[in-house]
Amino acid sequence: MVGANSGGRFRCCVCGRVFPKGQGIVVALSGGVLAFHSSKCAARFLRLLLDSGSKEVMSTALRLARELESKLVEAQERRAKKI
Ligand SMILES: [Zn+2]
Repeated sequence: MVGANSGGRFRCCVCGRVFPKGQGIVVALSGGVLAFHSSKCAARFLRLLLDSGSKEVMSTALRLARELESKLVEAQERRAKKI
């Protein structure tokens, strides 16, 4: 399993670097832990994930992107009304 060991340290699943708890990016999922020592490795993982060709992953990613986009538009509209 990729992720935590007993010492509260994590291993980056992209480059293999070990880093202490509280650093890097650690995402706990129901089936395990995704650990990245830097945002660069997280970005690389995202790239690989999207390149994996999974239709499920792609539709989820696109849906999330659209949700975030519409939230940005909403926030901009709220700001515009205040001024
Ligand atoms: Zn890394």
